[in-house]
Amino acid sequence: MTNDFSNYIDGEWKPAASGRTFENRNPADTSELIGRFADSGPEDVERAVAAARAAFPGWKALPAPKRGEILYRAAETLVRGKDELARDMTREMGKVLDETRGDVQEAIDMTYYMAGEGRRQFGQTTPSEMPDKFQMSVRQPVGVAGLITPWNFPMAIPSWKMMPALVLGNTVVIKPATDTPLSVVNLVKVLEQAGLPKGVLNMVTGSGSRVGSPLMSHGNVQIVSFTGSTEVGRKVSEACAPGFKHCHLEMGGKNVIMVMDDARIDLAVEGALWGGFGTTGQRCTAASRVAVHEKVYAEFVERFVAGARGLRVGNGLDPKVQVGPCINAGQLETVESYVEIGRQEGAKLLCGGSRLAAGEHARGFFHEPTIFGDCSPKMRVAREEIFGPVVSVIPVRSLEEAIEVGNSVDYGLSASVYTQDINKAFTAMREMYTGIFYVNAPTIGAETHLPFGGTKGTGNGHREACVQALEVFSEWKSIYIDFSGRLQRAQID
Ligand code: NAD
Repeated sequence: MTNDFSNYIDGEWKPAASGRTFENRNPADTSELIGRFADSGPEDVERAVAAARAAFPGWKALPAPKRGEILYRAAETLVRGKDELARDMTREMGKVLDETRGDVQEAIDMTYYMAGEGRRQFGQTTPSEMPDKFQMSVRQPVGVAGLITPWNFPMAIPSWKMMPALVLGNTVVIKPATDTPLSVVNLVKVLEQAGLPKGVLNMVTGSGSRVGSPLMSHGNVQIVSFTGSTEVGRKVSEACAPGFKHCHLEMGGKNVIMVMDDARIDLAVEGALWGGFGTTGQRCTAASRVAVHEKVYAEFVERFVAGARGLRVGNGLDPKVQVGPCINAGQLETVESYVEIGRQEGAKLLCGGSRLAAGEHARGFFHEPTIFGDCSPKMRVAREEIFGPVVSVIPVRSLEEAIEVGNSVDYGLSASVYTQDINKAFTAMREMYTGIFYVNAPTIGAETHLPFGGTKGTGNGHREACVQALEVFSEWKSIYIDFSGRLQRAQID
């Protein structure tokens, strides 16, 4: 059975003004049509922004704890619907069920967390320089938030943006990725059921150029929060600059696992396998590089390759499958082109290297887990984000060299070190210029109550999740109250 899905504007499900739709198909089996979604354009963005703008004063006036209660009810619904939501996500995005359950769980955790922020949103009180004067700071919502999200965490990332925006009193227009609109439709339905007033949350599906672009440039959108590629992130930043919009960017990664000569090799191999090939390598935090000390290089590589060869690739709905498909034909072609680049650069192909197109794989975008060995950090496969099941292994002679290799890329999201030596662990933690760091664990796996984001080409100084997310979606107002009953002048110099 297929379904047609509309935009959600001003509390109503409406088709695109043009009446056009686009298809969403299962990347593990393209004969399965997930649904037809509104192929929207600037006129739909216009309506959604107008609805969000009109709803802003009322939503802002609702006490924050009441806004939090609506989110709390949404979290409860997500808990009840978790398995079904995860199945929908596996069908539209391809990652295995354990991972899509984890994705929904992240949305649940974020929704509960931000529901709690309805009763916190703490400001400051400080003593005044003057007698009989009181002063404090309070958070204020900003206005309409335009959210643009990627396909690899189809519900988690939209929730990371939506929930802080809403609990702070902003209204929202979200544009999901065209490969994964169903998970955002599902999330919007949950919030609708939870009692969100009309116009507070709006969703417009469609392409980056026809929906994302007018949304980020719209004069009545005050905040743009974007997660996606660094290339598009740069365009978002440029579009936000003329209007001085709040601009929050979470972009690409080329994350490194550093394996030292005293590491537990069994743990390092497990970490490299799940960090590199989990979610088919399509995570911003994927461990797509492993820098291994030369003393343990041969042993690590042998076990890593054996592990990768043993991974079962297929439809994520099958509980025995460990690695799903690439998201679409274009992404599979990108992976293939990087395999070719790696070969030409002289990297040693240790396993994989080909698309899987026979038997159970015939109707999907599958690629073998692929490992290149003896890589130099200058090779493109070791520097550029591939976003697929390809890992480059780089031999190093010391921790210092591993850190230098780790920091040599344009990105700065996540890094990890495997070592039994606490001095090495702390040195690596301090020296890696990334937003996230792990010890004896892979580069993946974040929790909602710590800030998430990266440095350099990964981010623009903001963070997702935790209280840091509140900074993106609010502004501070400092308030001075004089109860002396006489003219008092603060020091001028
Ligand atoms: P993408 O940049 O192609 O698309 C992201 C979103 O932007 C989509 O909704 C897309 O439709 C929209 N878009 C595309 N072109 C646009 C334009 N010109 N104007 C406005 N919007 C436009 O990225 P993707 O392929 O969906 O996701 C993969 C990328 O996301 C990877 O680089 C990955 O590292 C990154 N990512 C980063 C994080 C993080 O937190 N740092 C998390 C997940 C994914």
